[in-house]
Amino acid sequence: MKEYRKFEPPDRILLGPGPSNVHPRVLRAMSAPTIGHLDPDFLELMEEVQELLRWLFKTKNRLTIPVSATGSAGMECCFANVFERGEKVLIGVNGVFGKRMAETARKLGQIPVTMEKDWGEVFDPDVISAALKSEKDIAGVALVHAETSTGACQPLEEIGELCKKRGVIFLVDAVTSLGGIPVEVDKWNIDACYSGTQKCLSCPPGLSPVTFSEKALEKINSRSTEVESWYFDMSMIQKYWGEERVYHHTAPINMIYALHEALLILYEEGFDSLFARHKKNSEALLSGLSAIGIEPLVDETYRLPELNSVIIPESVDDKAVRSALLNDYDIEIGPGLGPLAGKIWRIGLMGQASSAKNVIYFLASLEQILKKMGKIPEAGKAVQAAEEVYCNT
Ligand code: PLP
Repeated sequence: MKEYRKFEPPDRILLGPGPSNVHPRVLRAMSAPTIGHLDPDFLELMEEVQELLRWLFKTKNRLTIPVSATGSAGMECCFANVFERGEKVLIGVNGVFGKRMAETARKLGQIPVTMEKDWGEVFDPDVISAALKSEKDIAGVALVHAETSTGACQPLEEIGELCKKRGVIFLVDAVTSLGGIPVEVDKWNIDACYSGTQKCLSCPPGLSPVTFSEKALEKINSRSTEVESWYFDMSMIQKYWGEERVYHHTAPINMIYALHEALLILYEEGFDSLFARHKKNSEALLSGLSAIGIEPLVDETYRLPELNSVIIPESVDDKAVRSALLNDYDIEIGPGLGPLAGKIWRIGLMGQASSAKNVIYFLASLEQILKKMGKIPEAGKAVQAAEEVYCNT
């Protein structure tokens, strides 16, 4: 008989594109006893999860809930509900996740009208405005706020204003932005927005917080065709999360405990500290890397503090460095994808993993590896430069 052993995960520091390290409080919350999905105590917890999600998304939207699956499910849920078969959706493609949006729309029988940009760049509102004028019958615009495959942050406010003026739906991917940088659903006129738990929320993967504006709900309620999904049909799901409490599917109880605790941790820290912490750690990281000749891919104006993409120096072996980081120092960072494969590293500083301790340990480890490979003459410069950022501000 084949022998199996108990799985003991290694103790990794997750500095890649996600998942990020889970907060110990969240792990403890998850291990509490499971109760029924219609238990009055659980219903109370659901209320609080909705309230805290509204706080985090900066919205008053009634329909703000976690979808029971990962970020891609949130994407599919938003497209499936707010658009119908045959409708045209203007989609920005400047990385993996814009591309995935277009695929999702296509598989749902919608017509993705794609706008392309080089990976690492973002869309100008004028380009979107021109596309909305030249292309007839656009039902909505879909953009990725934080493109995890490149580290670029798409400004949204002006585009939201445009969508409002033209009366089209504005759909936004906030998987990597929520909790790391401001996401202002109401102020930016976002109609449908989805995120994920495994990035800046310091929670395991498994839920996708989503929120729908009143305009989105009106569009959903006036559909001429049924939502082409049973699991993601908001007209049914909202009856469980709303006052009726009608069974739809068994909520992933312990994941909801986890999300509640994760949201509470963010709420206790507050927006100012959260965003300042992500920013400061990114500055220290980039300053340290620059001191050893490693520079960012994305223009300073559009850089994401929670996902730092940096250009691998030509003579350095991408895979060898990532393997040494993982095997010798227990640090995971992400490789480049698509046209950026082999060209960049993606260094995540997300949620609780965005700490001075991680920045200094990562830089010290990288310096040791590069020194052993003969790529830098001495170790210490990167750590020194990062320390200066922490000391001087
Ligand atoms: N959108 C973005 C920007 C992402 O970074 C990811 C995952 O990394 C997704 C969507 C998909 O989320 P998931 O992998 O949780 O399904």
